[in-house]
Amino acid sequence: MLMKKDQQGKAVILLTIDALRADHLKSYGYHRNTAPNIEKLAEKGTIFINAITNGPESPTAFSSLFTSILPLLDGGFSPLPPQKITLPQLLKENDINTYAIHSNPNLGKFFNFNRGFDVFLDGERYKKDSTNSLKHQLSAYIKKLLDYNNLSNKLIYRLKGFNTLKTWLRKKMPFLTEILLPFTPIAYNAPYVVSKLISFIETSQKPLFIWAHFMDVHSPYNPPRRNVLNFRNKDFNITERKFLVEKVYLRAKGIEITPKMIDDLKILYDAEINFIDEYCAILFEAIKKKIQSNCLIIIAADHGESFYEHGFFGHQGSIYDEVLKIPLIIVELSKKSIKKKVKETIQLIDITPTILDYFGIEVPENFQGLSLLSMTRGESIKRKDFVISECYQKSGYMKRNQEEGLILLAIRNQGWKYIFDEENDKEFLFNLNLDPQEENNLIHENTKKLLEFRAIKQHHIKKITESYEEKLKIIKSIDKLKLDGLK
Ligand SMILES: [Zn+2]
Repeated sequence: MLMKKDQQGKAVILLTIDALRADHLKSYGYHRNTAPNIEKLAEKGTIFINAITNGPESPTAFSSLFTSILPLLDGGFSPLPPQKITLPQLLKENDINTYAIHSNPNLGKFFNFNRGFDVFLDGERYKKDSTNSLKHQLSAYIKKLLDYNNLSNKLIYRLKGFNTLKTWLRKKMPFLTEILLPFTPIAYNAPYVVSKLISFIETSQKPLFIWAHFMDVHSPYNPPRRNVLNFRNKDFNITERKFLVEKVYLRAKGIEITPKMIDDLKILYDAEINFIDEYCAILFEAIKKKIQSNCLIIIAADHGESFYEHGFFGHQGSIYDEVLKIPLIIVELSKKSIKKKVKETIQLIDITPTILDYFGIEVPENFQGLSLLSMTRGESIKRKDFVISECYQKSGYMKRNQEEGLILLAIRNQGWKYIFDEENDKEFLFNLNLDPQEENNLIHENTKKLLEFRAIKQHHIKKITESYEEKLKIIKSIDKLKLDGLK
């Protein structure tokens, strides 16, 4: 049952980094130390080596993270349906202060991701309570004055030295982002996110939950020069950057992808991780000063990123492990702290139960995840033997529902992975222990395994369909009520 005194003075800070694949961090075996400050913090906590996202892009992933229910079940994920209770809603019911700062347009108020947050700053629609504020008026005025996106593409980005200027501005004047946010689709601004986060820490009361999401690692990669220089003796010039990000990444016609191009793109990507990490150092220092103990810091990603392992870049429409394997690091700030690496497979739906457990709040029965807290304290937990990751997609693009897209799902169990691609009516079976690159499809070699996975898939799809029909019934009954009202 609820233990109010258990919450006193506690804080949870959830930091999520969009599109950060696990194997680009040193503690996950990467050859570069992309994030030395995060690595240093991880020395005091638990690193989950086999963390899997339940959704391969932001909406499916964050729906899983905040509701602890698989994204395609119970009315879907985008917008979050009212019947799916979110973590911040449960925290709010227990008088915990809830704050969020992010700039991913898929996770805004429009898609109901603000539910349960006292303060919710969502990049694109950032308004901060009042539309009459000076900043908002100024933004609206500038927006009227010029079509920013068009102008920036045509003019600003072509200016020599623009990148240097932008980097300098975003470092020295993070507040500029607030003015620019309403008319730039996504803000890539770790300094801004961190400055907001620190202001939350400084002004809020405990018990406290803060979620901050960083977009800097998400494409298009355009890191500051100094971060590139950490991994290369010379910076890429603007032409080289544009070629990599626009031609190579988007696989423009006539471009033959070479290993060198992939390596160069990875440097840009790694430099973005390194950029966020610099600001994490400032954040961790602030946490150390202001919070000190009784605090859980969770660092995770929503999904990973492909670098042409299976013929494409990015993360939409793919369910291979370069997209499904995410970092998860949990640090409990307390006197006793030892570094641990946990090999057991865990999933994004486990984060909400973990946070509820930390605050001493009962986890609702229908939640599919399990608390990882005992694992961070050296115990093991008994868990379900398979993990599902899923989305709707069409022609390689993310879709939000059954009307627009078809199911793409992966089920993993004891070193095996099964993929079902409804659009192309294809199935794949991989032995991850022998073939972690997912290159040898074994559907014809291991029929027994294939049939086992098929049964799990069919059972799961039946649940999706049933919950979808349930949703349609509700919508129909609401429509009928409306029609009756009109009579
Ligand atoms: Zn994402």
